[in-house]
Amino acid sequence: MRDLPYNQVLVVGGGLAGLRAAIEAADRGVDVAVLSLVPPVRSHSGAAQGGVNGALANAEDGRDDTPERHAFDTVKGSDYLGDQDAIQIMADEAPARIIEMEHWGCPFSRTKDGKIAQRPFGGGGFPRTCYAADKTGHYMLHTLYEQAVKRRVKVYMEWASAYFVVDGRRVGGVVAFHLPTGQFEAFQADAVIMATGGYGRIYARSTNAIINTGYGMAMAYLAGAPLEDMEFVQFHPTTLLGNNILMTEGARGEGGLLFNAKGERFMERYAPTAKDLAPRDMVARAIQTEINEGRGFPGGYVNLDLRRLGKQKIMERLPGIRDICISFSGVDPITDPIPIQPGQHYSMGGIGTDVWGQSELPGLFAAGECACVSVHGANRLGGNSLLDTVLFGKRAGERAAQVVKGKPAPRNEKAAQAALERVRKAYAGLIAGTGKEDPNQIRDEMRESMFELVGIFRTQDKLVQAVRKLGELSERYRRVRACYDGKKFNWDLVRTFELGGQLLVAEVIAKGALARQESRGSHYRVDFPNRDDQSWLKHTLAHYSSQGPVLKYKPVTVAKWQPEARKY
Ligand SMILES: Cc1cc2nc3c(=O)[nH]c(=O)nc-3n(C[C@H](O)[C@H](O)[C@H](O)COP(=O)(O)OP(=O)(O)OC[C@H]3O[C@@H](n4cnc5c(N)ncnc54)[C@H](O)[C@@H]3O)c2cc1C
Repeated sequence: MRDLPYNQVLVVGGGLAGLRAAIEAADRGVDVAVLSLVPPVRSHSGAAQGGVNGALANAEDGRDDTPERHAFDTVKGSDYLGDQDAIQIMADEAPARIIEMEHWGCPFSRTKDGKIAQRPFGGGGFPRTCYAADKTGHYMLHTLYEQAVKRRVKVYMEWASAYFVVDGRRVGGVVAFHLPTGQFEAFQADAVIMATGGYGRIYARSTNAIINTGYGMAMAYLAGAPLEDMEFVQFHPTTLLGNNILMTEGARGEGGLLFNAKGERFMERYAPTAKDLAPRDMVARAIQTEINEGRGFPGGYVNLDLRRLGKQKIMERLPGIRDICISFSGVDPITDPIPIQPGQHYSMGGIGTDVWGQSELPGLFAAGECACVSVHGANRLGGNSLLDTVLFGKRAGERAAQVVKGKPAPRNEKAAQAALERVRKAYAGLIAGTGKEDPNQIRDEMRESMFELVGIFRTQDKLVQAVRKLGELSERYRRVRACYDGKKFNWDLVRTFELGGQLLVAEVIAKGALARQESRGSHYRVDFPNRDDQSWLKHTLAHYSSQGPVLKYKPVTVAKWQPEARKY
């Protein structure tokens, strides 16, 4: 029998979290490889615009900022669901991670005196968001990729991971499908770090890249790792009408304002102090309320007005936003307001981990948007996710390296071969079956149902309907047939396979939302409009079973800050 590929640590995903984890593992002297569906620099991290948070206190009007204040803003932003020990670690280590990126060559924008510039972001008490114009993710991703190349980190490119190699409960590698050739392979490892990003594409109207299917979360869930707090789905207030491309919060951070069809600055009514820079959950609900109550423009949108910034500032700070508006909407923000509506943006929940990225399964770590540490709780603050990726990515790489160093786990070739066979069979079944169901139809119905029924405003009725609809779609998925059977770059086949996992993740979101009878952060129940700390100050943990998710709960770590009413 030929030898299967083996690395001590295998990172699945080449975005910011995956690359940072790989760099750390390499620096700690273990043999590490990255396996990624797309070339690392094409990961969704590269689309991040607005910036990355850290209390550097560089801005003129932000000199008093401290990690303590960053931690408090994050706790409050999370609607007290974030674990305060994890949040404290994140706020304390943030400046070091950002300076490290700077020293590795990330070209951050500068203040007049040459320091890293910082702009205000929603829910932040100080200008704390470091940025590189409005292309921060792109620059950070290329910076980390250079560092990975410098360390000769092996990259398996254009492989779609499908299932883990498991030995009992221990994760010992992944089986993946090679897009360019249609081959399958079992990659063995002593530890696997999942860094597969968010599930945005389970929803219609998402700002996420098409590759953000959330399948990596489904893999962990199927293997027995619980998914945490999945009912908390972030809707970004400002996405471009019609195609939902993100208009960064940085646009409001630089002074852009929201107006309804009557020309009113409506945010003054919803958040009298923070106004347009209230946290995302509040601004998204406010915009949707304006639209629902007839104060939006026909077609369902309001305006984001940047004209008051002037040409020079727009060209300097928001050039990417301007390009996108002109190319995709025919609107030049220098002369016209931008039509926007809320859209799905970020997954607060994910594979549950401790502050070192360790999941409940031995050998399985997770970091970045696919993980839930939990630092974002019920609502993530803008700029905290890029930070989460590099900070907890580093920690996951460090701990995985410590765990595997000097003590290789017993390799189980039999388990690897069995997993390989299982994946081959599952893929073959999608082509060979006699089923008539079109995967694209099922996917579209899933996405529309999630946006309509498990969206910004939720009710018991809608959520029951969503669960029923998802059950029906899963039933139809059993009779699905991939549309194309070619060997080379068969994206249709990968996406049809992943759809099965997406339906599972969607079910976890809907059932978690149905169970949680309160409103907290992004999870807004019209029928339970208040936060209920007595019953619901706890994390949801969804465990896989063939009958659907089994929901359990665990306490939130509260340290310095007792829950208070959240006012802005
Ligand atoms: C448009 C946009 C703008 C944003 N702006 C900001 C911002 O300004 N500030 C901020 O803090 N946050 C921002 N965010 C959020 C932030 O960018 C993301 O949460 C973060 O970059 C996710 O990084 P990641 O490394 O976890 O995953 P990703 O960058 O999404 O990478 C996932 C990786 O996993 C791989 N992968 C996925 N599935 C598989 C599979 N089955 N097999 C193998 N590989 C797989 C992919 O190839 C990819 O390399 C933004 C998000 C979006 C969508």
